[in-house]
Amino acid sequence: MRETDKVLIVGGGIGGLCASIALRRQGIDVDLVELKSEWTVYGVGIIQQSNVVREMARLGVLDEYLQAAYAFEDVAIYNLEGKQLVRIPGQRLAGPDYPANIGISRLALHNVLSETAISRGVQVRLGLSVERLEQDAEGVDVIFTDGTSGRYSLVVGADGVYSKVRSMLFGDRYQPRYTGQAVWRYNFPRHPSIDHLASYQGAAGNAGLVPLAEDLMYMFSTSHEPGNPRMEPSQLAELMRERISAIGGLVGELREQITDSSQVVYKPMEVVFVNEPWFKGRVLLIGDAAHATTPHLGQGAGMAIEDALVLSHELVGEGSMEARLRRFMDRRFERCRYISEKSILAGDKEMAHDHTFDRIGLVKEMLEVTAQPI
Ligand SMILES: Cc1cc2nc3c(=O)[nH]c(=O)nc-3n(C[C@H](O)[C@H](O)[C@H](O)COP(=O)(O)OP(=O)(O)OC[C@H]3O[C@@H](n4cnc5c(N)ncnc54)[C@H](O)[C@@H]3O)c2cc1C
Repeated sequence: MRETDKVLIVGGGIGGLCASIALRRQGIDVDLVELKSEWTVYGVGIIQQSNVVREMARLGVLDEYLQAAYAFEDVAIYNLEGKQLVRIPGQRLAGPDYPANIGISRLALHNVLSETAISRGVQVRLGLSVERLEQDAEGVDVIFTDGTSGRYSLVVGADGVYSKVRSMLFGDRYQPRYTGQAVWRYNFPRHPSIDHLASYQGAAGNAGLVPLAEDLMYMFSTSHEPGNPRMEPSQLAELMRERISAIGGLVGELREQITDSSQVVYKPMEVVFVNEPWFKGRVLLIGDAAHATTPHLGQGAGMAIEDALVLSHELVGEGSMEARLRRFMDRRFERCRYISEKSILAGDKEMAHDHTFDRIGLVKEMLEVTAQPI
């Protein structure tokens, strides 16, 4: 791209923020609009595995990011009685001096990314979205929801699973689908033994404990919730305790501490995959807008971050915009499809109580796939 060209990013979540930082690193002007007028995120954490740590290094934010995170090496899988079945050592893909994996609070991650984006010159406007996009061969004319307008060389829809940009490109062809499962999450003071990701799995339930900071960790559990019932907010603590009642070990010990329903983060799992190129002309989708999946492999945000880095490399390459976006698709489509399908498969197998499913084998295979350079 020429330096005078400008990109609009719609959505200031993990994918949009990383894309804005990565594009600024290439000298490209970036405007970002975010629908929320209070730009914040909900208060639990996120796992970021070795492929993500590697991309954070390439994004130039690794030191601030690691300071805000809890670094760890291994992933251990336990049975429901708390007996360790396997310990999978982490891979230090960012280099020997950096950790394999990290856990980070979503708010801490948002703060690192939003402060970096603003300090690198991304023009952020909050409480705003796109109303209309009209494109010609040279650019996209954008009308925003406040009536203002702009012209851009490229518009990037990073506006999540319910993407408005996606519906502008594809109408109602791609709608989020409820998978049948939901996730329950709750923060605790970090237990000294949780210096790794601890995953508890068995036929009667599953849960995990993830370190987020010296003094913070969170618990997650997935459950089968046929019909996507509405959960009564005041009962969330009791319901979460019920869902994990078959789990022993540390999860069992912590169970009675889940008492504050306002601190339980409950989320039904919704997925969507755009099964054709994620762009039309000069409008492109990245992150959950193109490929939202379930959290079973802990790679959704990872794929959004990788999208951002690859886009920034391809945009400054040779050829027409179409050629550059096609190269982006060549590098992203199969990898994201793999994560998307395998994550959904892991959830389907949980719901089917399929004891023959080799979940540990899938995790190992996923780590090998994601270790490959993007
Ligand atoms: C329960 C759960 C646990 C997860 N755990 C992990 C994990 O451990 N590791 C991992 O890698 N991934 C995890 N994920 C996946 C991860 O959260 C997502 O893949 C990631 O947030 C996608 O980032 P995004 O920027 O594409 O979308 P989002 O994070 O959804 O951001 C979209 C942004 O766009 C804004 N927006 C929406 N509509 C508009 C509009 N019309 N105009 C302007 N702005 C708009 C939103 O307000 C938001 O700020 C998990 C997901 C779930 C549901």
